[in-house]
Parts: sequence; C-alpha cells; structure tokens
Amino acid sequence: MIPPIARRFVAGESAASVMDHARRLNDDGIGAILNLLGEHYDGREAADEDARTYCTLLDEIGKTDLDACISVKPSQLGLDVGEGVFRENLERIVEAAAANDGFVWMDMEDHTTTDATLDAFEAQVGTYPKMGLCLQANLKRTPSDIERLAGLPGKVRLVKGAYEEPPDIAYTDKARIDEAYRENLELAFRAFDAGIAVGSHDPAMLDYAAGLHEVHDTPYEVQMLMGVREDAQRELAADGITVYQYAPYGDRWLSYFYRRVMERKENALFALRAVLGR
Ligand SMILES: Cc1cc2nc3c(=O)[nH]c(=O)nc-3n(C[C@H](O)[C@H](O)[C@H](O)COP(=O)(O)OP(=O)(O)OC[C@H]3O[C@@H](n4cnc5c(N)ncnc54)[C@H](O)[C@@H]3O)c2cc1C
Repeated sequence: MIPPIARRFVAGESAASVMDHARRLNDDGIGAILNLLGEHYDGREAADEDARTYCTLLDEIGKTDLDACISVKPSQLGLDVGEGVFRENLERIVEAAAANDGFVWMDMEDHTTTDATLDAFEAQVGTYPKMGLCLQANLKRTPSDIERLAGLPGKVRLVKGAYEEPPDIAYTDKARIDEAYRENLELAFRAFDAGIAVGSHDPAMLDYAAGLHEVHDTPYEVQMLMGVREDAQRELAADGITVYQYAPYGDRWLSYFYRRVMERKENALFALRAVLGR
C-alpha cells in the first residue's frame, strides 16, 4: 500500500485508483496523463506485461468519457532488451489506442535513447497521429529534432530535461537550460500547427509560452506533474488554458517518490513534516 506521504505524487497502485484520480482532475477542468511506473527492464516479460497493462488501460479509458491519455517510457517497453522489443510493444499500444481513439505520449529518457525513441515515434505517428513525443531543452540536438518532426502529425512536449547528461552534448548550467527552453519553445510554436505541450512548472516558461501563443496563435497546453503546483494547475484551467496533469500509478512508486522528494528542498521538507506528523 502507498503510504499517505507518497500519495501527493502517486495516484495509487491500481488502474482503478488512477482512473478515480483522472475523474477528480476532470471535475476541476484538468486532463489526465496516466503513467504506469516502471523503467529499465532487462527482460522482455516485464516489458510485455506493462505493454499489456497499457492496452487494458486504453480499453478502460475508451469505455468512459474521461479526458485521459497515457504516457509510456521506452525502457519500460523493453528498449534495454532490444529496439525490436520496444517497437513491438509500442505498436501493440498504438493499436489499442487506435481501437479506442486514445492518445499516446512517449516520455524521453537519457540521451542514449533519443534516436531510438524518435525513430519509433516517427514510424508510428505516420499511421496514427494521436501521439506525442517529449523533447528535452537541455540537449543541444533538440532544435534539429524539432525541425525533423515539424512536418509530421502528432504533438511535442517540451521539458527542460531530467537526466544528467555529458556537457559536450547537453547544457548543464541552469540559466543556459532556461535560455535553450525559450529558444526551443519559439521554434516549436513556429513549427507545430497541431500544438505543443509546455511541460514545466516554471512560471517564467509558462509566461513565455503564453506570449508566443499570442503572437503565433499556435494551440498549446500546459502539462505538470501530480503533486507539483496543483493550485497553479487549477488556476490555469480556470483561466481557460488547457492543462494536463501527469499522474503516475503502480506498485513501483518508491523510486519515483524518492526522486520527487530529492529534487526540491520544499518537497524534502514536506516529506520530513509528514514523517514527524506536523
Ligand atoms: C508533464 C511532465 C512530463 C515530463 N516528462 C519528462 C520526460 O519525458 N523526460 C525528461 O527528461 N523530463 C521530463 N519531465 C521533467 C522535466 O524535464 C524537468 O526535470 C522538471 O519538470 C523540472 O523542470 P521545471 O521546468 O518544471 O522547473 P525547474 O527548473 O525545476 O524550476 C523552475 C521554477 O519552477 C517552479 N517550480 C518547479 N518545481 C516546483 C515545485 N515542486 N513547487 C513549486 N514550484 C516549483 C519554481 O518557481 C522554480 O524556480 C517532465 C515534466 C513534466 C511536468
């Protein structure tokens, strides 16, 4: 069972609990991006099992009127086992999405996976356009990846990047990453008519995106994580901005919870206060 302290960031262990969470989000005018926790499987069984779970989840979402979609990690679908395994599992998930008119987001992992992830996205989105791919502003290659994807259907989620990367291929300085985020936002707002997702909690980046929307009229949505700036999520939605919350679930919640707590002093203090009971 997930302890109360972790429930701020993780919607529950079961599909039913994350669907309930999605319903509550929808009641507040917020869409849900459901992510089954799991990554870096070294055997295909676990990867196949998670792919099956995603297919069932898409079927379940399809039976409801929920504004909910899924987001998958390449290494969760077997990329560490082999690119073929990853591609097969992704294809099964996209088929289930197509049968249910569902939407599939692909998370982006560290730079060693970027090419395989882009290739797999390109291979699928041509036949099923209700897909989106995450790109990371800290990687120096991202402007050319935006250019590469520009003519394709599908959406792009721009994030700053969560992985520690080597300085020859990535910006490592916070201010430079912020600058790259703005540059990439600008490129994306020009390049993608289908719209882009601003995956950030940073008020400065959200203001910048709102300004670009005024100039280019490109549709955009804001995506934030469960448990992070939830008041802002509700306020943005009340102001008429499309907001999606990334809501993880599943029994592999511990390492995800640990990452959230360690990435920010305020989150660590929240955890400490919860443990101390005040
Ligand atoms: C929906 C979503 C999906 C993501 N998917 C991926 C992915 O596939 N691959 C990947 O590499 N990364 C992903 N990330 C993570 C991302 O790369 C960043 O590591 C993470 O979002 C932190 O960057 P930031 O832009 O939110 O703000 P930061 O640069 O961390 O912080 C900037 C400012 O934002 C505000 N802020 C940030 N966090 C908080 C908080 N907890 N509470 C209050 N204010 C806060 C503060 O004002 C802060 O000064 C995803 C993020 C989101 C939101």
